Amino acid sequence: MSNRRFNPFESTARPALQLLQLDLYRRAGIEVWILRLDKVHPLISGNKWYKLKYTLQDLVRRGEKRVLTFGGAYSNHVHALAFAGQAMGIETIGVIRGEPAYAANPTLTDARSWGMKLEFVDRATYRSRRDPDFELQLHRRFGDFGLVAEGGFGPLGLLGCREIIAGLDGVAGFDLICVAAGTGGTLAGLLAAKPVSSRLLGFSALKGGDFLSQDIITLLQQAGEADPGGWTLQLDAHCGGYARTTPLLAAFMAAFRQKTGVTLDPVYTGKMLLRFNQMVADGEVVPGSRVLLIHSGGLQGLRGMEKTLYDQEHAHRGGLPL
Ligand SMILES: *Cc1c(COP(=O)(O)O)cnc(C)c1O
Repeated sequence: MSNRRFNPFESTARPALQLLQLDLYRRAGIEVWILRLDKVHPLISGNKWYKLKYTLQDLVRRGEKRVLTFGGAYSNHVHALAFAGQAMGIETIGVIRGEPAYAANPTLTDARSWGMKLEFVDRATYRSRRDPDFELQLHRRFGDFGLVAEGGFGPLGLLGCREIIAGLDGVAGFDLICVAAGTGGTLAGLLAAKPVSSRLLGFSALKGGDFLSQDIITLLQQAGEADPGGWTLQLDAHCGGYARTTPLLAAFMAAFRQKTGVTLDPVYTGKMLLRFNQMVADGEVVPGSRVLLIHSGGLQGLRGMEKTLYDQEHAHRGGLPL
């Protein structure tokens, strides 16, 4: 503990709530607010601040000097953990899916500059990340470490994510709460704190996100939380697959930013907003509804994608649900 420099999780997060004024919402007779988790911390972005809060504090309390985690080459989780680890004086190791050449991308350049050691593995090896044999191998290579699951998924991640809405004034006034889902850990945390009167809708960032429901239910059980019901997953919001982008998505994100001042990320929040707005345009959100959208952050991942997004934005033909 003596080398602990600074705990970035000590202060309470007070994310701003912003009213989104779009013609689409006015016409549909609904009120839509966005919770700006993207502003909670400049480097431990969005929901990752909540997911890592108790996960890392617990490791420090147990005297762990080193943590190892898993992620893709543009992972918001890896990025956030690398920064938090340095701030708290914990060594970090990132097991990254893909080739070593990714080390030069903006996400991993930051991670390395914060002292994270990177270990690149191919896709097949990455898929075995939950195998005890693979973990043993990693221990032989790196010695002692505390393990943080991909995306910070786990009971302590859930505990942190409860706080996203548990401390929010007037949360019971929202009929619908929407959040993007990768592992579903954030959604599980929201479920644990959900007012009875609110419905929760998760937007899968992955194609084939059918496994998410079961993962969420299992995590709730592990954390000793009852499944409150009143939630569903939107499985067709992925725009072709995880981290894929389309001209429609790129044009939508640009127009949304221009009309609301809110920047979205292309992997999670952009896809959630696009699908949500399509639902509104299709009359699937009941008039009179008050809706809370969670901006889960992730804007660091935009770096290096600007050119692709710009080109796609200008290739889009047709209308946008705004
Ligand atoms: C990691 C991440 C998610 C997914 O969170 P899960 O808890 O894994 O479902 C959503 N949005 C952003 C911006 C993220 O970085």
